[in-house]
Amino acid sequence: MRRADLMLVAPLLGIAAWISVQALDVRDGVAFHEVAASGDAVRAGSTPDAAADAAPGATPEAPRSATDDGAATEAGAEGPHTHRARTANAVADGDMRSPARPREPAPLRDIADIHRRLDESGAGTYIGEVLADRDSALARWPDRVARPLTIWVQSADSLHDWNPAFIPQVRDAFQTWGSTDIPVGFVFVRDSAAAEVHVTWCDHFEEQISGKTMWARDENWWIVEANIVIALHHNHGETLDPSAIRAIALHEVGHLLGLDHTADTTNIMTPRVRVRDLSAADRATMKLLYTLPPGSLR
Ligand SMILES: [Zn+2]
Repeated sequence: MRRADLMLVAPLLGIAAWISVQALDVRDGVAFHEVAASGDAVRAGSTPDAAADAAPGATPEAPRSATDDGAATEAGAEGPHTHRARTANAVADGDMRSPARPREPAPLRDIADIHRRLDESGAGTYIGEVLADRDSALARWPDRVARPLTIWVQSADSLHDWNPAFIPQVRDAFQTWGSTDIPVGFVFVRDSAAAEVHVTWCDHFEEQISGKTMWARDENWWIVEANIVIALHHNHGETLDPSAIRAIALHEVGHLLGLDHTADTTNIMTPRVRVRDLSAADRATMKLLYTLPPGSLR
């Protein structure tokens, strides 16, 4: 995707988000899920996260653009994190989708069997917290082994403090999650227009965050599109080093693959990231997610 195209996509995402506010009860649409990671990935002793999550449709809200996650107002100045799930109608979906995207078949779902498998395999994972964050629904990519996800990582040479070493850190974040034995492969492409996933950069966010992931799902809760933005600086100006960039990328890729937050700060998916690598629980939760069909368990 060229930069000019990105400029066009941003307003479209904004439109989708706006439509979602007006159509919270649309069922057969595409949800745009926006998640944002803490800007304090490398800070020791930061205040424990006070969850600022909003369940889909829980609270009517003002129209927002794709880059406004509302963290500052909902979680306060030090509020580290917010996430939102939005349901957009089919018109927005049509705007967002690549016409070439193959339609995924509906998953085979047996609610009782899914619950049984969660009971059997949920120990050592935070799948329960993910379900709680998602209003009892799971979202994930379809199996993508034969046709790996195409990832484009921007080279942000024009940004102050840009370091080309950030690119391999982001790639490593994808590959690290890929090593958890999930049925999703990744391939990095040079042409942004050929990519399903775009990782771009900004100088800093206005909120107390350092990363943001936005993904879209179809009516079966298959994730169909996702984009990540990572900041080069903390909200208050400190430069993030490559190790911190990798930690933030791990957190954001976790969101991109379908995980949500856990309160346990030893995991990469805690809202205010404090560790630099995946925990056993991160790996186990991701692995379990990809053994289950997506969709609501209600
Ligand atoms: Zn997050």
